[in-house]
Amino acid sequence: MSKLSANYVQVPETAKINKPIFDTCPSDEVTEEVKAFIEAGHDPWMWHGHSHTPPPKSGTPPNYVGRFYLRKGQVESKNWAPCPCCSPDHRKFGRDGGLIAYFPDEKAIRLIGPDCFGSLNQEGHENAIADLRRREREKSELEYILRCADKLGQWRSATDEMLKVAKQADTFFPGIQNRIEVSLQVKLWRNIRDGMLRVTEKFKTVKVGADGEPEEVTERIDTVLFQLEGYKALNPDRKALSPILEKLADDLRKVGHVNESIVQQMPPMERTAVAKELRRILVSMQSVHDALAHELRFLGQVNVNRFRQWAADERSPVEFEFERKGGTISIRGHKEFNGLPIPEELRTSHLPSIDAPTIDGRRH
Ligand SMILES: [Zn+2]
Repeated sequence: MSKLSANYVQVPETAKINKPIFDTCPSDEVTEEVKAFIEAGHDPWMWHGHSHTPPPKSGTPPNYVGRFYLRKGQVESKNWAPCPCCSPDHRKFGRDGGLIAYFPDEKAIRLIGPDCFGSLNQEGHENAIADLRRREREKSELEYILRCADKLGQWRSATDEMLKVAKQADTFFPGIQNRIEVSLQVKLWRNIRDGMLRVTEKFKTVKVGADGEPEEVTERIDTVLFQLEGYKALNPDRKALSPILEKLADDLRKVGHVNESIVQQMPPMERTAVAKELRRILVSMQSVHDALAHELRFLGQVNVNRFRQWAADERSPVEFEFERKGGTISIRGHKEFNGLPIPEELRTSHLPSIDAPTIDGRRH
């Protein structure tokens, strides 16, 4: 490629001088500095610590201090960065960011493409990348645990609050289910198990039969009358939620000692285990939260009215009456259950928020 190429970059001579200014492998602060420099609108090869010179073909392989990324606009317009390893005067890399590589023999840093050094020394590159990934994982686990540690108290009280709701739900909903399916002998679950309340329309039409004669046949077409919110509350195999929450409250107590100074001192292996346990607890809390929120929606007045209308519809596969009046439910068929009180805890759609921190991705 010539200077006339569209990819040509005029890298100033000051950048093309080796800068042996880093006596030891720099810390994360250098990564932060490079990122801030680029974010401020500068080109990475203009950073004062960057040596825009080819790395020596032999010698100690680099340490990868960290990663940097081009600004979004640079990526979108494909304004790639030139690479001192392989493309010093022409735009080359940046789609997947670049590496801040420390070369101990020269006490110098080069901002290079993510795979560049691999073509000079594959093994050295792979070791350095594995080491960088390990440090990134440790850092993201540490940050994740610290974000969680701040919320442990909030999660303990959320679990206690959900437990009050779950205890009532665990008795109330199976009670309703049992009265409909067992006492009234209504085949309910098989007709609502996908959350759709269907009715069957029957039409009489005339078709030509096998003998060539016209015959009258009845066609059935199922249509969805409504969607039923919270239908899983009426699953005869519904699992009780309060034992799960009681176990979670226990698990949260067990990680309750985790605070900043303890985490800082933990060996990385132990941190990995704590981070994993916190994720497991949060996934489980969230799934109980979702299940309860779903079930509470069943009791919404509009939802109950739809359920009632469907159950009373002569085209529906079931026949019973279901009604919510104020704080009570009534169910009627060949037996009647009038004015079953809805527990106070289930008369709300409010559940405490869990607000789980996300695990940092590998980027940035
Ligand atoms: Zn390169």
